[in-house]
Amino acid sequence: MRIVVCVKQVPEITEVRIDPVTHTLVREGVPSILNPFDEFAVEEALRIREKHGGEVTVVTMGPPQAREALLKCLAMGADRAILLTDRAFAGADTWATAYALCLAIKRLEYDIILCGKQAIDGDTGQVGPMLAESLGIPQITFAKKVEIDANASKIVAHRETEDGHEVIECRLPVLLTAIKGLNEPRIPSLMGVMSATKKEIRTMTAADLGVKPELVGLKGSYTEVVQVFAPEPRKKGIVITETDPEKAAGKIIEFLQNESLI
Ligand SMILES: Cc1cc2nc3c(=O)[nH]c(=O)nc-3n(C[C@H](O)[C@H](O)[C@H](O)COP(=O)(O)OP(=O)(O)OC[C@H]3O[C@@H](n4cnc5c(N)ncnc54)[C@H](O)[C@@H]3O)c2cc1C
Repeated sequence: MRIVVCVKQVPEITEVRIDPVTHTLVREGVPSILNPFDEFAVEEALRIREKHGGEVTVVTMGPPQAREALLKCLAMGADRAILLTDRAFAGADTWATAYALCLAIKRLEYDIILCGKQAIDGDTGQVGPMLAESLGIPQITFAKKVEIDANASKIVAHRETEDGHEVIECRLPVLLTAIKGLNEPRIPSLMGVMSATKKEIRTMTAADLGVKPELVGLKGSYTEVVQVFAPEPRKKGIVITETDPEKAAGKIIEFLQNESLI
Protein backbone atom coordinates (compact mmCIF):
# COMPACT_ATOMS: atom_id res chain seq x y z
CA MET A 1 0.00 0.00 0.00
CA ARG A 2 1.59 3.32 -1.09
CA ILE A 3 0.33 5.98 1.29
CA VAL A 4 0.94 9.73 1.12
CA VAL A 5 0.10 11.95 4.10
CA CYS A 6 -0.16 15.75 3.79
CA VAL A 7 0.81 17.47 7.00
CA LYS A 8 1.00 21.10 8.03
CA GLN A 9 3.14 22.83 10.59
CA VAL A 10 1.03 25.29 12.57
CA PRO A 11 1.90 27.90 15.18
CA GLU A 12 1.45 26.95 18.81
CA ILE A 13 -2.03 28.32 19.41
CA THR A 14 -0.68 30.55 22.20
CA GLU A 15 1.84 32.07 19.80
CA VAL A 16 -0.40 33.22 16.89
CA ARG A 17 0.75 36.56 15.42
CA ILE A 18 -0.49 38.29 12.28
CA ASP A 19 1.81 40.29 9.96
CA PRO A 20 0.18 43.79 9.90
CA VAL A 21 1.34 44.34 6.29
CA THR A 22 0.57 41.04 4.48
CA HIS A 23 -2.27 40.07 6.90
CA THR A 24 -0.83 36.57 6.93
CA LEU A 25 0.35 34.56 9.90
CA VAL A 26 3.91 35.17 11.13
CA ARG A 27 5.49 31.71 10.87
CA GLU A 28 9.24 32.40 11.03
CA GLY A 29 10.70 32.00 14.53
CA VAL A 30 7.31 31.19 16.11
CA PRO A 31 7.11 27.97 18.19
CA SER A 32 5.23 25.55 15.96
CA ILE A 33 3.69 22.09 16.18
CA LEU A 34 2.48 19.36 13.84
CA ASN A 35 -1.20 20.11 13.09
CA PRO A 36 -3.07 17.87 15.58
CA PHE A 37 -5.52 16.48 12.97
CA ASP A 38 -2.53 15.41 10.86
CA GLU A 39 -1.29 13.20 13.70
CA PHE A 40 -4.44 11.08 13.25
CA ALA A 41 -3.71 10.97 9.50
CA VAL A 42 -0.09 9.84 10.04
CA GLU A 43 -1.16 7.26 12.64
CA GLU A 44 -3.78 5.78 10.28
CA ALA A 45 -1.18 5.55 7.50
CA LEU A 46 1.19 3.65 9.80
CA ARG A 47 -1.59 1.23 10.85
CA ILE A 48 -2.52 0.54 7.21
CA ARG A 49 1.16 -0.14 6.42
CA GLU A 50 1.47 -2.45 9.45
CA LYS A 51 -1.57 -4.41 8.25
CA HIS A 52 -1.00 -4.40 4.46
CA GLY A 53 2.69 -3.56 4.01
CA GLY A 54 3.89 -0.74 1.80
CA GLU A 55 5.38 2.70 2.34
CA VAL A 56 4.35 5.95 4.05
CA THR A 57 5.51 9.28 2.56
CA VAL A 58 4.73 12.55 4.35
CA VAL A 59 4.55 15.84 2.42
CA THR A 60 4.40 19.43 3.62
CA MET A 61 4.52 22.85 2.01
CA GLY A 62 6.01 25.49 4.28
CA PRO A 63 9.03 27.53 5.34
CA PRO A 64 12.33 25.64 5.97
CA GLN A 65 11.41 25.25 9.67
CA ALA A 66 8.50 22.99 8.61
CA ARG A 67 11.16 20.30 8.47
CA GLU A 68 10.53 19.87 12.24
CA ALA A 69 6.96 18.71 11.56
CA LEU A 70 8.27 16.16 9.05
CA LEU A 71 10.84 14.90 11.56
CA LYS A 72 8.01 14.25 14.04
CA CYS A 73 6.17 12.17 11.41
CA LEU A 74 9.37 10.23 10.58
CA ALA A 75 9.89 9.63 14.32
CA MET A 76 6.33 8.24 14.53
CA GLY A 77 7.35 5.78 11.80
CA ALA A 78 6.85 7.32 8.35
CA ASP A 79 9.39 6.06 5.78
CA ARG A 80 10.32 9.27 3.95
CA ALA A 81 9.38 12.91 3.62
CA ILE A 82 9.08 15.72 1.07
CA LEU A 83 9.40 19.41 2.00
CA LEU A 84 8.02 21.88 -0.56
CA THR A 85 9.76 25.09 0.38
CA ASP A 86 10.35 28.25 -1.66
CA ARG A 87 9.69 31.95 -1.01
CA ALA A 88 7.38 31.70 -4.05
CA PHE A 89 5.03 29.49 -1.95
CA ALA A 90 4.63 32.07 0.85
CA GLY A 91 1.17 33.49 1.58
CA ALA A 92 -0.60 30.75 -0.37
CA ASP A 93 -4.34 30.42 0.03
CA THR A 94 -5.95 26.99 0.04
CA TRP A 95 -6.12 26.84 -3.77
CA ALA A 96 -2.42 27.66 -4.22
CA THR A 97 -1.54 25.23 -1.42
CA ALA A 98 -3.53 22.39 -2.97
CA TYR A 99 -2.05 23.19 -6.39
CA ALA A 100 1.56 22.93 -5.18
CA LEU A 101 0.79 19.72 -3.27
CA CYS A 102 -0.93 18.29 -6.35
CA LEU A 103 2.15 18.90 -8.54
CA ALA A 104 4.38 17.13 -6.00
CA ILE A 105 2.03 14.18 -5.43
CA LYS A 106 1.48 13.66 -9.18
CA ARG A 107 5.16 12.59 -9.26
CA LEU A 108 4.52 9.86 -6.68
CA GLU A 109 2.73 6.53 -6.92
CA TYR A 110 -0.06 6.28 -4.36
CA ASP A 111 -3.09 4.22 -3.40
CA ILE A 112 -4.25 6.37 -0.48
CA ILE A 113 -3.75 10.05 0.38
CA LEU A 114 -4.49 11.10 3.95
CA CYS A 115 -5.02 14.67 5.17
CA GLY A 116 -6.24 16.10 8.48
CA LYS A 117 -9.87 17.31 8.68
CA GLN A 118 -8.51 20.87 9.01
CA ALA A 119 -5.50 22.92 10.07
CA ILE A 120 -5.95 24.65 13.43
CA ASP A 121 -4.64 28.01 12.07
CA GLY A 122 -6.42 28.53 8.69
CA ASP A 123 -9.28 26.23 9.82
CA THR A 124 -10.81 26.07 6.30
CA GLY A 125 -10.75 22.29 5.80
CA GLN A 126 -10.47 23.07 2.08
CA VAL A 127 -7.02 21.73 1.11
CA GLY A 128 -7.89 18.01 1.27
CA PRO A 129 -11.02 18.23 -0.95
CA MET A 130 -9.26 20.66 -3.34
CA LEU A 131 -6.30 18.29 -3.64
CA ALA A 132 -8.59 15.34 -4.46
CA GLU A 133 -10.33 17.41 -7.14
CA SER A 134 -6.99 18.57 -8.59
CA LEU A 135 -5.79 14.94 -8.75
CA GLY A 136 -9.12 13.75 -10.12
CA ILE A 137 -9.62 11.12 -7.40
CA PRO A 138 -12.56 10.43 -5.05
CA GLN A 139 -12.53 11.84 -1.53
CA ILE A 140 -14.00 10.73 1.78
CA THR A 141 -13.89 13.52 4.35
CA PHE A 142 -14.32 13.21 8.14
CA ALA A 143 -13.21 9.55 8.13
CA LYS A 144 -13.65 7.98 11.56
CA LYS A 145 -13.14 4.31 10.62
CA VAL A 146 -11.23 2.84 7.68
CA GLU A 147 -11.08 -0.74 6.34
CA ILE A 148 -8.94 -1.63 3.36
CA ASP A 149 -9.55 -4.59 1.04
CA ALA A 150 -6.12 -4.65 -0.59
CA ASN A 151 -6.94 -7.55 -2.93
CA ALA A 152 -9.98 -5.83 -4.31
CA SER A 153 -8.17 -2.49 -4.24
CA LYS A 154 -11.04 -0.84 -2.41
CA ILE A 155 -11.80 0.87 0.87
CA VAL A 156 -14.80 0.99 3.20
CA ALA A 157 -14.85 4.11 5.39
CA HIS A 158 -17.21 5.42 8.04
CA ARG A 159 -17.68 9.13 7.45
CA GLU A 160 -18.93 11.29 10.29
CA THR A 161 -21.96 13.45 9.42
CA GLU A 162 -24.01 15.94 11.43
CA ASP A 163 -26.62 13.34 12.27
CA GLY A 164 -24.59 10.15 12.51
CA HIS A 165 -22.31 8.51 9.97
CA GLU A 166 -22.27 7.17 6.44
CA VAL A 167 -20.56 3.95 5.30
CA ILE A 168 -18.83 4.56 1.98
CA GLU A 169 -17.19 1.97 -0.29
CA CYS A 170 -14.77 3.28 -2.86
CA ARG A 171 -12.11 2.06 -5.34
CA LEU A 172 -8.51 3.11 -4.73
CA PRO A 173 -6.84 5.55 -5.15
CA VAL A 174 -8.77 7.74 -2.73
CA LEU A 175 -8.17 10.80 -0.52
CA LEU A 176 -9.34 10.68 3.10
CA THR A 177 -9.48 13.42 5.71
CA ALA A 178 -8.96 12.28 9.30
CA ILE A 179 -10.94 13.31 12.36
CA LYS A 180 -10.33 12.98 16.09
CA GLY A 181 -11.33 9.47 17.20
CA LEU A 182 -10.10 7.73 14.04
CA ASN A 183 -7.28 6.35 16.17
CA GLU A 184 -4.94 7.15 19.06
CA PRO A 185 -1.71 8.60 17.62
CA ARG A 186 1.44 6.91 18.95
CA ILE A 187 4.09 8.91 20.76
CA PRO A 188 7.43 8.58 19.00
CA SER A 189 9.86 6.30 20.82
CA LEU A 190 13.46 7.36 21.49
CA MET A 191 14.51 4.87 18.78
CA GLY A 192 11.99 6.47 16.48
CA VAL A 193 13.35 9.97 17.14
CA MET A 194 16.91 8.81 16.54
CA SER A 195 16.15 6.89 13.34
CA ALA A 196 14.14 9.86 11.99
CA THR A 197 17.30 11.90 11.48
CA LYS A 198 18.63 9.18 9.16
CA LYS A 199 15.51 9.04 6.97
CA GLU A 200 15.24 10.90 3.66
CA ILE A 201 13.74 14.40 3.65
CA ARG A 202 13.67 15.58 0.05
CA THR A 203 13.37 19.33 -0.50
CA MET A 204 11.55 20.61 -3.60
CA THR A 205 11.36 24.21 -4.84
CA ALA A 206 8.94 25.82 -7.34
CA ALA A 207 11.53 25.16 -10.07
CA ASP A 208 11.74 21.48 -9.04
CA LEU A 209 7.95 21.28 -9.41
CA GLY A 210 8.25 22.99 -12.79
CA VAL A 211 5.65 25.59 -11.76
CA LYS A 212 5.54 29.26 -12.70
CA PRO A 213 5.98 31.42 -9.55
CA GLU A 214 2.84 33.38 -10.43
CA LEU A 215 0.73 30.22 -10.00
CA VAL A 216 1.71 29.58 -6.39
CA GLY A 217 1.93 31.51 -3.13
CA LEU A 218 0.32 34.92 -2.70
CA LYS A 219 0.50 35.53 -6.51
CA GLY A 220 -1.31 32.27 -7.27
CA SER A 221 -3.99 32.81 -4.63
CA TYR A 222 -7.60 33.70 -5.44
CA THR A 223 -8.34 34.51 -1.83
CA GLU A 224 -7.10 37.84 -0.60
CA VAL A 225 -6.99 38.16 3.15
CA VAL A 226 -8.20 41.76 3.54
CA GLN A 227 -7.98 41.94 7.28
CA VAL A 228 -7.31 39.52 10.10
CA PHE A 229 -8.29 40.68 13.55
CA ALA A 230 -9.28 39.26 16.91
CA PRO A 231 -13.05 39.67 17.27
CA GLU A 232 -14.38 41.80 20.17
CA PRO A 233 -14.81 39.60 23.24
CA ARG A 234 -18.52 38.86 23.63
CA LYS A 235 -20.21 40.98 26.28
CA LYS A 236 -21.46 39.03 29.28
CA GLY A 237 -25.18 38.29 28.91
CA ILE A 238 -27.67 38.59 31.76
CA VAL A 239 -29.46 35.76 33.54
CA ILE A 240 -33.13 36.33 34.31
CA THR A 241 -34.05 34.36 37.38
CA GLU A 242 -37.49 35.91 37.64
CA THR A 243 -40.04 33.03 37.75
CA ASP A 244 -43.14 35.15 37.14
CA PRO A 245 -43.53 35.18 33.31
CA GLU A 246 -44.89 38.76 33.25
CA LYS A 247 -42.01 40.09 35.36
CA ALA A 248 -39.46 38.00 33.39
CA ALA A 249 -40.80 39.41 30.11
CA GLY A 250 -40.52 42.89 31.61
CA LYS A 251 -36.85 42.30 32.46
CA ILE A 252 -36.14 41.09 28.91
CA ILE A 253 -37.78 44.15 27.39
CA GLU A 254 -35.87 46.40 29.77
CA PHE A 255 -32.56 44.71 28.73
CA LEU A 256 -33.38 45.01 25.01
CA GLN A 257 -34.28 48.68 25.44
CA ASN A 258 -31.03 49.37 27.34
CA GLU A 259 -29.14 47.74 24.49
CA SER A 260 -31.19 49.84 21.99
CA LEU A 261 -32.29 46.62 20.38
CA ILE A 262 -35.94 47.60 20.45
C1 LIG B 1 -6.46 33.07 10.13
C2 LIG B 1 -6.31 32.55 8.71
C3 LIG B 1 -7.40 32.54 7.88
C4 LIG B 1 -7.26 32.05 6.58
N1 LIG B 1 -8.37 32.04 5.80
C5 LIG B 1 -8.26 31.56 4.55
C6 LIG B 1 -9.39 31.50 3.71
O1 LIG B 1 -10.49 31.87 4.09
N2 LIG B 1 -9.24 31.01 2.46
C7 LIG B 1 -8.04 30.59 2.00
O2 LIG B 1 -7.96 30.16 0.86
N3 LIG B 1 -6.93 30.63 2.77
C8 LIG B 1 -7.02 31.10 4.03
N4 LIG B 1 -5.93 31.14 4.81
C9 LIG B 1 -4.67 30.64 4.28
C10 LIG B 1 -4.61 29.14 4.54
O3 LIG B 1 -4.32 28.96 5.86
C11 LIG B 1 -3.51 28.53 3.75
O4 LIG B 1 -3.89 28.50 2.47
C12 LIG B 1 -3.13 27.14 4.16
O5 LIG B 1 -1.99 26.74 3.52
C13 LIG B 1 -4.16 26.07 3.91
O6 LIG B 1 -5.39 26.29 4.43
P1 LIG B 1 -5.81 25.86 5.91
O7 LIG B 1 -4.81 26.32 6.87
O8 LIG B 1 -7.19 26.29 6.09
O9 LIG B 1 -5.73 24.27 5.86
P2 LIG B 1 -6.93 23.22 5.84
O10 LIG B 1 -7.56 23.21 4.50
O11 LIG B 1 -7.82 23.40 7.02
O12 LIG B 1 -6.03 21.90 6.04
C14 LIG B 1 -6.63 20.65 5.87
C15 LIG B 1 -5.53 19.63 5.68
O13 LIG B 1 -4.82 19.89 4.45
C16 LIG B 1 -3.44 19.58 4.61
N5 LIG B 1 -2.66 20.82 4.47
C17 LIG B 1 -3.04 22.12 4.69
N6 LIG B 1 -2.00 22.97 4.47
C18 LIG B 1 -0.94 22.18 4.11
C19 LIG B 1 0.42 22.46 3.78
N7 LIG B 1 0.88 23.70 3.75
N8 LIG B 1 1.23 21.40 3.46
C20 LIG B 1 0.75 20.12 3.48
N9 LIG B 1 -0.53 19.79 3.80
C21 LIG B 1 -1.35 20.81 4.12
C22 LIG B 1 -3.29 18.99 6.02
O14 LIG B 1 -3.51 17.59 5.96
C23 LIG B 1 -4.44 19.65 6.76
O15 LIG B 1 -4.89 18.92 7.88
C24 LIG B 1 -6.03 31.59 6.12
C25 LIG B 1 -4.93 31.59 6.97
C26 LIG B 1 -5.07 32.06 8.25
C27 LIG B 1 -3.90 32.02 9.16
